[in-house]
Amino acid sequence: MAKIKKRMPWFSGQGLWKETPAEDWGSWSWQLRNRITNISQLESLMTLTEAEKAGCEFANEKLALAITPYFFNLIDREDKDCPIRKQLIPRDNEMTVAPWETLDPLAEDSHLVVPGLVHRYPDRALFLVTNHCAAYCRYCTRSRLVSNSQGYDFHPQIEQAFEYLEKTPHIRDVLISGGDPLLLSDKKLDYLLGRLHAIEHIEFVRIGSRIPVFLPQRITSELCDIFLKHEPLWMSIHVNHPAECSEELREATGRLSRAGIPLGNQSVLLRGVNDDVETMKELVHRLLQMRVRPYYLYQLDAITGSSHFKVDLKKGIEIIQGLRGHTTGYAIPQYVIDAPQGGGKIPVNPDYVEGINEGEIVLRNFEGKIFRYATGTLETEKSAEKPGFPAELYA
Ligand SMILES: *Cc1c(COP(=O)(O)O)cnc(C)c1O
Repeated sequence: MAKIKKRMPWFSGQGLWKETPAEDWGSWSWQLRNRITNISQLESLMTLTEAEKAGCEFANEKLALAITPYFFNLIDREDKDCPIRKQLIPRDNEMTVAPWETLDPLAEDSHLVVPGLVHRYPDRALFLVTNHCAAYCRYCTRSRLVSNSQGYDFHPQIEQAFEYLEKTPHIRDVLISGGDPLLLSDKKLDYLLGRLHAIEHIEFVRIGSRIPVFLPQRITSELCDIFLKHEPLWMSIHVNHPAECSEELREATGRLSRAGIPLGNQSVLLRGVNDDVETMKELVHRLLQMRVRPYYLYQLDAITGSSHFKVDLKKGIEIIQGLRGHTTGYAIPQYVIDAPQGGGKIPVNPDYVEGINEGEIVLRNFEGKIFRYATGTLETEKSAEKPGFPAELYA
């Protein structure tokens, strides 16, 4: 279980890099250039377990190792079960392949209409604009293509994608993802958003990014000005554990909010990271304080080498049950399974319906108490009529 300290402080500062000039520390290109990307850099900063050493040896053939100095500071180096550490530092378990796992469990490759453009739902499209991220999550659903460790030939055809979007009028919503789109330069993002904005039938654009979490320095005022230019723009960030909610993240989400961007959060349910009610509650409370609305909680995709992160579905339902009614409604994400073979996101909910009888539904509330609600309307339930006129006038 991922234990959390109650009233954990909002971490902030340069930590291990306290000698670094503040100007460098605050620069996103400095953070990227100084990422930890190999085992010797890691070992100079912390003591690795045997399982981690073995995982690091293997990482370059599967999914690159990369951690920004900013995010590395959030690791509790004394704790080998640290929930931040588990998400970023490879372990030998990644070499285990469970029978249900595949490289492309969501069948995204077969829903590609143009290299980089996934069109699964009729009215919306997923636009993968890069295969790079600021740091790599070990359970990544796109580990086949991000960081290019597996030799996947990823070359998004940006202009061809615009052409497809322009000639497909039933697409009203475009989700820009990757990789992490916010690694693109301001110039490229401005162009990308401008082109999408110019397509009349596209009503809504959103960005999926973990950059605010891994590299809050990227959320500059220049970038926010670009976002403001292309409103309405929404963003989904990706936070899994309350310890990721640092002062720096809070400031970055503040800047995004002030640029008019409604923020959502997508978490993945991960064993030993956020698989208990207390941790999840602390996480969603912190998100609300940062004006971020919990959007989805994902059951783990069946991605190759991820089984050590898998949480039983029953536990996930129990977590949602532990939130509903026990905390702010806004704080509760929708728990979903992204269905294998590209079936799309399917909600899985605790069952609050005890039974549906003739004319009534029997419900169980968050405290386990039973309530009955009459389901009929005046039209369907003759018995519901309370005649104020002589009975024959109702015939
Ligand atoms: C998740 C996803 C979307 C967006 O789904 P929403 O439920 O609208 O957030 C669109 N296309 C693909 C392929 C997706 O995986």
